[in-house]
Parts: sequence; C-alpha cells; structure tokens
Amino acid sequence: MTEHFIGGRFVESHGKEVMEIHNPATGELIGLATLGDEVDTERAIAAAKAAFVTWSKTTLEERKVWLQRLADAITERMDDLKAITIAEYGAPAVFTDYIVDQARDFFIFAQDLLKPENFEIRQGLSTIQKLPIGVAGLMTPWNGSPWFVCEKAASALAAGCTVVMKPSELSPLQSKVLMECFKQAGLPAGVINLVNGRGDIVGNTITRSPNVEKISFTGSTRVGKMIASQASERMKRVTLELGGKSPTIILDDAEMGKAVEFALMVGLMNTGQSCTAGTRILVPKSRLDEIKQYLKTGIENLQIGDPSKRDTVIQPMVSAAHYERVQGYIRKGISEGAEVLIGGEGKPVGFENGNYVKPTVFVGVTNDMVIAREEIFGPVLCVITYDGDDEAVRIANDTDYGLYAYVFGADAERAQGIANHLLSGCVSVNEFIIDPAAPFGGFKLSGIGREFGIAGLESYLETRVILSR
Ligand code: NAD
Repeated sequence: MTEHFIGGRFVESHGKEVMEIHNPATGELIGLATLGDEVDTERAIAAAKAAFVTWSKTTLEERKVWLQRLADAITERMDDLKAITIAEYGAPAVFTDYIVDQARDFFIFAQDLLKPENFEIRQGLSTIQKLPIGVAGLMTPWNGSPWFVCEKAASALAAGCTVVMKPSELSPLQSKVLMECFKQAGLPAGVINLVNGRGDIVGNTITRSPNVEKISFTGSTRVGKMIASQASERMKRVTLELGGKSPTIILDDAEMGKAVEFALMVGLMNTGQSCTAGTRILVPKSRLDEIKQYLKTGIENLQIGDPSKRDTVIQPMVSAAHYERVQGYIRKGISEGAEVLIGGEGKPVGFENGNYVKPTVFVGVTNDMVIAREEIFGPVLCVITYDGDDEAVRIANDTDYGLYAYVFGADAERAQGIANHLLSGCVSVNEFIIDPAAPFGGFKLSGIGREFGIAGLESYLETRVILSR
C-alpha cells in the first residue's frame, strides 16, 4: 500500500517510511504500508479546501444521493472489507460483521438528518442558520477502523464539510479498501481525502493547519489532550471521543448467572479493546463468592481463537506492542496486591504465535489501584465489592472517565434509578444498546462533544443569525 486518496484519485506517497503489517492472530507478515508525511497531508488539505467551495453549496437532496452512493460502494465491497478487518485487526467474525455493516449504515442514517429545519429555522426576528464549518480533519483509532472512519465521514459530509481523514497507522489495509470504495462512489474531487500515516506527523499537520476548521478525533485521552491544546491556537472546533473505565454495577437482586454473563459480555467486547468496555465490575459484597464462581466458569467457557471463526469471542491484541502493554497492567495488578481469580500473565496455551492475552479477572481490587483507574484496553477485568446502592454509585462515579456505564438488576425501575445517578455519557440498563440516533460521548476525561444523530451533524456546523423583520 503505497498510495493515499487525494483529490479524487490515488496518489503515490511522498512520505517514504514503510511499515510492516502483521496478522495479529498468527504474527504473519501480510502487507507493507508507506506512510504519508507533511507534504501528503498538505496536498490533501488543499484538495479539501478547494472542494469545499462547491460541496458546501450542494443541496440536501444532492448530498443524500452522494451519501447513498457511498453506502452502495461499501455494500459492493462488504466481503473484502470484512476479510481484511479480520486479517489486519483480528476482530472476530461476528464483531466484524457489526463493525462493517454499521460502517455502511452510517451513510444511510446520515441521509435522515438532511432536513431543512436542521439547517435553518426562523425564530422571532432571527433566521438561525447552520453552516458547514469548513474542512474537517477526522482522526480515528484502530479498534474497528471502518466504523469510526465512516461514522465521522457520514456526519461531516452530510453537514456540507469536506474531509481529510487520518485513520490509525495500524489499519492501512482496511483504509485501502475504504479508499477504493470512495473512488467508486465518485464524489467530486477533493470532497473526501485520506492520508495514511502516523499521528505525530500526519495528525499533527492536520491539527495545526490554518485551513482545517474542525477536528473530530477518537482515540486515547493522552493524544486528545495534545489535540485540544494545539487546536486552541486557532480556536478550532474539536470533538474528542476518548478513553473510558466503565463500571458495571450488578445489583443484589440480580440473578447472578445472568448478571455475570452480561458483565463478561460488556467487559470483554472486542476483547476489552473497546472504549465502552465495562472493565470495573461492581458487585454486592454479600454475593461475592457466588459471583466469583460464575466468573470463573464464564471465562473458562469463552472461545479463544481464530478470529475468522464465528464462535470466537477472544481475539488477539492488535499488535505485539499492545500485548506487552496489557501484560504490564496484569503484572501491575499482581504487584498492587489484587488476586488473580483466573487468567494472569502470558499467552493462553496453543496461541503462542499471536498476540493473545489470557482473559483475566482480578478480585480483591480497590478502586484506587492503578488497574481500576487506568484504561487497560485488553481482556482484564477488576471486581470491586460495595455495600449498599449508595456506595455502588460512589465507586462507579469515582473515576477520571465517564463514557459508558452499565447497571444490571431484576427490578428495572430500581436499576433505572441507579442509572440516573451515574456521571456518564451513556448508561445501559440490563442490556447493551448503541443507538446511532442518540448522542454519544463522554463526561470528564472521556472527551468533549457528542457524535451520532443530530448532535453529530451539528458538530460540523457553525451558527449564523440573520436579524431582520
Ligand atoms: P491513539 O490516541 O493512540 O490514536 C488514535 C489516532 O490518533 C490514531 O490515528 C493515531 O495515529 C492518532 N494520533 C496519535 N498521535 C497523534 C497526534 N499527536 N496528533 C494527531 N493524531 C494523533 O489511540 P488508539 O490506540 O488508536 O485507540 C485506542 C484509544 O482510543 C483508547 O484510549 C480508546 O478508549 C479510545 N477510543 C475511544 C472511543 C470513543 O468513542 N470514546 C472509541 C474508540 C476508541
């Protein structure tokens, strides 16, 4: 992969650094990607800036047609995109289906937002207009790359912005298929641009550019802070979707077998490589022994293995470096005095070639331990006991993050009552739901702003008021 997508065509990379891409499940070398540099990025920004002049003036009906063409182009390449997501990222087949199907669907959902009242309303003596803000820089992580790229692109394009995307440098083969889809959709040259490359080079150039008005970033809180600080130089609008350390509160009236099944599902989704993973499991002290038993059996029954198989639940970590990072946290938990209930350091037997981590559950965790405070982004769960609902809420909210939270209990009204006290962008009660029409985003270090639906669209719009009689 030696090209970027700039100005409606594939362009040889000016940057010359070459990165090896390994299948995370086998360690096998599956590709080489040439990474872009400042010159590639500036070219993409210039193309987007030129295209903005006409794209921002397109009608809502015209934009609907283009969004549908993008959805159709992805539909045609569905199988290729799924296959490469499994090979390059290691996402299990069932999860990959969700990522890629919804990546396409974002271009369909966005069409529903294209209603005149979302762009202009009359209120008293004011005509309130929502204008596309300009060129949008979209930077995305590796944990479901097509999903993030398409979600941001759909909202930005619907708003009338042109885009420069920088997906994770760990996802270039997924980006290649997406670029082919963009080419196939045939949008006017420069409306969509994609540069592969590193964050500190391509990402930084986008953030600093005077020709990019909006940054929408999904990734770590560490990088989000840098972007917020750099973007403030020009008062750039930013949407930051960052990390999480989500609590799952199991209430004492829950049927514990079901509650633990739920906690494992939300804690280990995407093998913990998920910003919404419920990695702090808060359990009533009086039910701990029973819960431990269910956790042990639940983990023992999880299918670890080949991501292309439909029954696989536990996948490898995306890279060897990330595997090492997760191992460091497991060692940290042990050194902090937490007890390994199941799992622990090293690779599961039979999976020595891939970046597999043993699904690990720590008990005896207190909420001040590093493993309970920092985002591990792997299959490592902390069980923390509480005494009474008030303490459960206090521990749940005692975190620097606030992206997602879960409550599970038999009495739905009581569970809903607990949900009302949680400081979190989303709280799921008794099931895991992602509603693509509801605002998504976090409190505190989990970010700034909201994506999805009308909130997502508005994040790419600037307001002008015309006052007249
Ligand atoms: P990351 O922050 O390392 O990288 C994310 C993106 O930012 C990549 O494209 C990377 O190249 C780029 N980047 C790195 N340095 C940059 C810089 N200086 N300027 C601009 N861009 C830069 O995160 P990651 O490891 O790819 O993803 C995992 C993180 O993402 C986790 O913290 C996770 O919680 C978070 N995440 C959040 C959400 C959410 O919706 N809140 C969703 C998925 C992932």
